[in-house]
Amino acid sequence: MENVIILGTGIAGCTAAIYAARANLAPLVISGEQDGGQLTLTKEVENFPGFPDGVDGTKLVQDSKAQAEKFGAKFKVDIATSLEEIEGGFEVALMGGEKLKSKTVIVATGASARWLGIPSEEKFKGRGVTTCATCDGAFFKDKEVIVVGGGDSAMEEALFLTKFCTKITVVHRRDELRASKVMQDKAKNHEKINFIWDSVVDEVYGEKVVEGAKLKNVKTNDIVDFKCDGIFVAIGHIPNTKFLEGKMDLDDHGYLKADKFMHTNLKGVFAAGDVQDTRFRQAISAAGSGCMAAMEAEKYLSEIE
Ligand code: NAP
Repeated sequence: MENVIILGTGIAGCTAAIYAARANLAPLVISGEQDGGQLTLTKEVENFPGFPDGVDGTKLVQDSKAQAEKFGAKFKVDIATSLEEIEGGFEVALMGGEKLKSKTVIVATGASARWLGIPSEEKFKGRGVTTCATCDGAFFKDKEVIVVGGGDSAMEEALFLTKFCTKITVVHRRDELRASKVMQDKAKNHEKINFIWDSVVDEVYGEKVVEGAKLKNVKTNDIVDFKCDGIFVAIGHIPNTKFLEGKMDLDDHGYLKADKFMHTNLKGVFAAGDVQDTRFRQAISAAGSGCMAAMEAEKYLSEIE
């Protein structure tokens, strides 16, 4: 039986792994669907302390992983499909078929991009509709695109796309952005970025790839035809907790409930990172909660042994 299984290799999982490994617990870390987490989709992280010139998101998690490995953490690429309480601990089933046993578990499975949920979006996924400018931006060189959303992610996506695209139009469902002032200002002051307010994407159309979208004004219900080559959806995230439904306490939006010490409703299961964070969702707060979860897991283990 393992001491600690950590679910997720984002910055929360990797930080928990560093702390658990340094406590001689030899944690086993399971990658999840997106090995490295959301930071691998971010080119430049500008607000992580210690990097005055910014740091590449993928490099930040890869280095954190290497740091955890140096102290004895083990990493495995697979996806957890269930978590059950058993005598003396927990059993984690993996998609690959394995069943692992551990005295404690840290759930750091993060969150995945939210999609618009309209039928035409499904048809054009990977053919012009995407949630990742860092991954797909280069395919839209000299093209015109839409970015949907009004948060920091949407501004970041729009700004990143200015490297490739001739014109970026941010379509937001309200007339006020949710993004931080600094990101708003950057986007609003960029000559390639325009805004369409109070509007949503009602339909995506095209022959084989995206050729445009029907935009609906939510105040007037008017629909306008907007020609574009790509649609970047940046409307937030959904916590990766499907495998915990019915077994652990989740809130109405599916976030794993945890107290201020990262304890969940199951004694011996701790939470870290975006899977439990409805408020901050920052790389540094995810890392901080990973540290806390690992320290609490260590404390719990010393108490039961
Ligand atoms: P977010 O702050 O939750 O913003 C989501 C945006 O999408 C909101 O503007 C929301 O509109 C809109 N939206 C949600 N559902 C929609 C739908 N079905 N149709 C149309 N629009 C919809 O999410 P986020 O931008 O991904 O940011 C998440 C967290 O990460 C935040 O704390 C943010 O500060 C942080 N973050 C930071 C950085 C950075 O500092 N560099 C970069 C990215 C993210 P409403 O405004 O009307 O609700």
